[in-house]
Amino acid sequence: MVRKGRVGNIASVQPRTCNRRARRPFVGFGPPLRAETISVGTELLLGQIVDTNSTYLAGRLAAAGVDCLHMTTVGDNLERVTAALRRGLDRSDLLMLTGGLGPTEDDLTREAIAAVLGESPAVDPALEEELRSWFGRRGLTMPVRNLKQAWLIPSARSLRNPHGTAPGWDVRRDGRRIVAMPGVPREMIPMWEDHVEPTLFADTVLRSRTLKLLGIGESAAEEVLGDLVRSTAPTVATYAKSDGVHIRLTDKDPDLGRLTRRLAAMERTIRERLGDHIWGADGDTLAAVIDAALRRRGWRVVTGEALTSGELARTLAEDEVGSYAGGVVRPGRDADDLDAALTILAADVRVLVPHPGADTVIVEVRTPDRRETLKVRFHSAAEGRRRAVLGALDLLRRSL
Ligand code: ATP
Repeated sequence: MVRKGRVGNIASVQPRTCNRRARRPFVGFGPPLRAETISVGTELLLGQIVDTNSTYLAGRLAAAGVDCLHMTTVGDNLERVTAALRRGLDRSDLLMLTGGLGPTEDDLTREAIAAVLGESPAVDPALEEELRSWFGRRGLTMPVRNLKQAWLIPSARSLRNPHGTAPGWDVRRDGRRIVAMPGVPREMIPMWEDHVEPTLFADTVLRSRTLKLLGIGESAAEEVLGDLVRSTAPTVATYAKSDGVHIRLTDKDPDLGRLTRRLAAMERTIRERLGDHIWGADGDTLAAVIDAALRRRGWRVVTGEALTSGELARTLAEDEVGSYAGGVVRPGRDADDLDAALTILAADVRVLVPHPGADTVIVEVRTPDRRETLKVRFHSAAEGRRRAVLGALDLLRRSL
């Protein structure tokens, strides 16, 4: 039952600390945190929508070095959401729920959390006021059923949702934390990034560094990294991305100096092992790195493409590479034909992606002092084009 105003200003309610686990900061620089996601929504179980929320959250946790050990999907059913919560509280420190915070009868996430913790929800006057003015600003009267979006339980603090009506819940009890967020990704993501993630490591600084590689596949990179991928401080993880393989180092520490030294030492070791496969870091783009190298030498580059139908040109032009002087697309032509067609464009460097063989293309870079080729193998035309563009850009940056 909901009794209006029963809990007063919930924002000031402190997490209860009634056992040993709870005495340490919620997540400090200590034992690893075990987390799990619970996605609530019958639409998910019917295959009508894809659960991108838990994928997103798991990715954020992995980057922060937190172990996400389970992902549960459960329909809009009080008993089953409650059961998922009970199981989660038995095995994890942090439960992240998304969905079921709407105003309708099947939005049951709040009820389930209250039931599991044995707490009664009550309307929080400040939240009610905020909700009413949200509707008021749109010239609407708040429907009565929306009032449950102003509920809180004593252990919950509300999480602001500037993009919708459903505030989230941040519940802390007995050293465990339950975060309930809306299902709509554009509401959930800012809530997570602005109000939850920054609070995960209260007394510690979290830093990530991404190294970007080309000319090596993800599994080969992992093999070279060897034991480093099992490191826990920093954590080292590889990702296959559209611009090659990324290696992300993440670490946290209350002492910024110590943190920076550990990350730098790990980066040095990785650079020793992977050498010139590494073309950039963090926000670097391949096109910008190539542009900088061309400018240092005072060179301009042109492209001649058969297989890739202008994709290489588009990559360089879209990123506004100042040293890019244009290109030609000539389907079916070999490297010398492409090179001849490029004589009308004054440039020092030519990148050529000729017509391929059955499953290989030989991309070529001609600079004033050298001619480099790279054999790119592929299994399908689309893959061939993608690999040829990346291969050509990689060969270009290595030739400079
Ligand atoms: P709101 O009150 O803002 O509508 P809610 O918490 O009630 O949020 P739901 O009603 O469960 O959320 O879902 C609303 C919509 O959000 C769904 O129709 C779907 O488009 C999207 N959504 C819900 N859960 C997920 C999920 N796990 N991954 C991706 N999208 C989701």
